[in-house]
Amino acid sequence: MKYRRVRGTEDIFGTESEKWQQIDNIFKHICGLYGYSQIQTPVIEHSELFRRSIGEATDIVEKEIFQFQDRSGRDLSLRPEATASIIRAYLENSLYQSPGVVKLYYSGAMFRAERPQKGRKREFHQFGVEAIGSYGPELDCETIMLANRLLRSIGIEGSIIELNTLGCRKDKKKIAGYLKDIIGKNIPDLCPKCSDRFERNILRVLDCKNQACRDVLGNLNVDIKKAVCPDCINHFQELKRCLDGMGFQYRENNFLVRGLDYYSRTVFEVIHTGLGAQNAVGAGGRYDNLVEDMGGRPEGAVGFAFGLERLSFIAANLPSCSRMLDVFIVLQDYKLVGEALKEADFLRAENISVDIDFQGRSVKSQMRLANDRRARFVLIIGQEEAQKGVCSLKDMSTGEQKSLTRKDVFKTIKGGVNC
Ligand code: ATP
Ligand code: MG
Repeated sequence: MKYRRVRGTEDIFGTESEKWQQIDNIFKHICGLYGYSQIQTPVIEHSELFRRSIGEATDIVEKEIFQFQDRSGRDLSLRPEATASIIRAYLENSLYQSPGVVKLYYSGAMFRAERPQKGRKREFHQFGVEAIGSYGPELDCETIMLANRLLRSIGIEGSIIELNTLGCRKDKKKIAGYLKDIIGKNIPDLCPKCSDRFERNILRVLDCKNQACRDVLGNLNVDIKKAVCPDCINHFQELKRCLDGMGFQYRENNFLVRGLDYYSRTVFEVIHTGLGAQNAVGAGGRYDNLVEDMGGRPEGAVGFAFGLERLSFIAANLPSCSRMLDVFIVLQDYKLVGEALKEADFLRAENISVDIDFQGRSVKSQMRLANDRRARFVLIIGQEEAQKGVCSLKDMSTGEQKSLTRKDVFKTIKGGVNC
């Protein structure tokens, strides 16, 4: 083999690709029910955008961004996530001028130079939403419920939403001080990464997956809410009341933080036990300073993103249409391929999927191919029949074969393909 895909990337095709499309379609539909419309932003942005919004001292910006200079020396990056790009687009296209909360969903590839492993790729795909224009905890509630609704819509059971609050910007210093005080004596017991985080981005110590670090934090009873201001605590209580009022189940997690600097107040993660070590299928939260930091008028906003790879992995019960093709046309003689093209063109115009053998195979081998392609019907075209304007139609689910006129062929197929 001459060429191989880049490390940490995947080719997605066949049933997996169909599954993704199905998830995408269902999600788009559900987002529509919540008043969202689609936004597509470029895969490349000026590096500065991510440095400023995600934060200089985060893992993403420090280690994971695919950053390069283009031929004119511009400093560009492949997007590692979409929120920053969407707020840039929101400001650049004056989307704030439309009245009400601006609700946008997106779907696309993201890039992070992480160590590839199960559930962790360098090119991965996210479906996410952003709702911009309210500080109210009710919007957090709706957004969290949307995340849950999306999972249910593709048959995912057994996920749980974990919730925490990070307080507002002015709480950050206090939280850092609180953490330094409480964890300070235990630095020798933390992993080397955490000792480093302790100095540079202490909040991330809470996020460490290392069991020894988790034990230290657990024993210390760490809870950053102790350093969060009363307004933010109130916002968090309101959110929980709102979720309780909707009968929604969630779990508070005092250790939940996010790896991006722009988050404030509510943060949440959608956990699924079927995923193993990378157990988060999606994550999100509120980011009330980002719009202003990026040059706009202050606006409260909240969003989340799901990873499609992980979603697809746990969406085992996705109701699927197992048949891939409506009709396979079998030719008794390859000379009849012109007839087949005409017939296929006619049926495809009627929304019926059709394929033909273009390799001059024997009838038997064409029938085998039709089987492989899981065709619902096989349309057999022979010389004599073509002259008479008839052909044979085999119903692959019953095995029944009939000689029919073109019109009847169409009627029978149309009646049989409503999957
Ligand atoms: P993790 O804790 O798994 O590193 P994260 O906090 O970096 O996730 P976010 O930036 O919040 O993740 O992205 C939201 C979702 O996108 C994750 O829950 C996951 O499903 C998916 N995701 C993130 N990074 C990757 C990756 N490298 N490969 C595959 N999916 C990913
Ligand atoms: Mg990560």
